[in-house]
Amino acid sequence: MIKTEKLMQMTIPTPYPVGDVHVYLVKGDTLSLIDAGVRTDEAWDIFKNQLKGFGYLPEDIEQVILTHHHPDHTGFVDRFDCAHGIYGHKRNQPWLRRDETFLENYLHFFQQLYRDFGIPNEFKSFQYSLKGTLKYGGIGELTGFLQEHDTLPGHPDWQVIETPGHARSHLSFYNGKDKSLLAGDHVLAHISPNPLLEPPDEQHLPRPKPLLEHREALKKLLPYEIDAVYAGHGPIFHGVQDIIHKRLQKQEARADKVYHLLQDKPLTVYETTKKLFPTKYQSQLGLTLSETVGQLDYLESIGKVNISKEEDAYVYTAN
Ligand SMILES: [Zn+2]
Repeated sequence: MIKTEKLMQMTIPTPYPVGDVHVYLVKGDTLSLIDAGVRTDEAWDIFKNQLKGFGYLPEDIEQVILTHHHPDHTGFVDRFDCAHGIYGHKRNQPWLRRDETFLENYLHFFQQLYRDFGIPNEFKSFQYSLKGTLKYGGIGELTGFLQEHDTLPGHPDWQVIETPGHARSHLSFYNGKDKSLLAGDHVLAHISPNPLLEPPDEQHLPRPKPLLEHREALKKLLPYEIDAVYAGHGPIFHGVQDIIHKRLQKQEARADKVYHLLQDKPLTVYETTKKLFPTKYQSQLGLTLSETVGQLDYLESIGKVNISKEEDAYVYTAN
């Protein structure tokens, strides 16, 4: 008889607009927790209750495995006595460690980026978003790094697939035996995750292009035979291939809209963001900028725009 591992879903509230987040228990020879909720007492209490419903206590969890570094996925990492450790992509590490140099560089990167994007000085939203991340995110230390082609420690049926885009630390986990995918926030049933801007691994490197990375990471899943997808938010779902094709098409349609805006007049990233999100750009500058610059990066990648620097900011012109 083939021994299949048991997968259990738990649902935890978050203080974010996205709503609840799911974490998963994987029970094989080892009991692992995939993702670790958000760092609030309410979330922890609800988590412990649900865990009890499956017959476990926090001290039974032997290891934690992270899909990515966002605060709604790392909150409890320090609350377990993990005999086997905490695993994830190495890019989680500076976030978990609260590495000061990393956080300073992070702020620096966004200060420069906001100038490049032509954003007026009064906006400081990157600092607020950093505070939000630090307030609710986990504090700790990865004890092992995971990368493409690895299997999950203690769970040889689960294969690691690097899926950057929504976060540069993002990993998905695939079980070829029962064709299930633990997708984190890479692909969700109900919404398209925002590919968020992040600094490069080293300061001298060029700015990452998260939407392009996300597109590649979506296409990367197409050859896999996937039945059920267990994501970080929203329902468990099937038919991921169709969803991926739809997401790619929808994104291309959005880029087309941006292209038409640029045909009227060359624009900076900030000006484009204002036109695309006239009611949201002020309150959600970080998110709307990431979305907009993603479309501009995509247009650049297919040769539909030219970029020039005027005064401090980059200006995008339709070809
Ligand atoms: Zn996320």
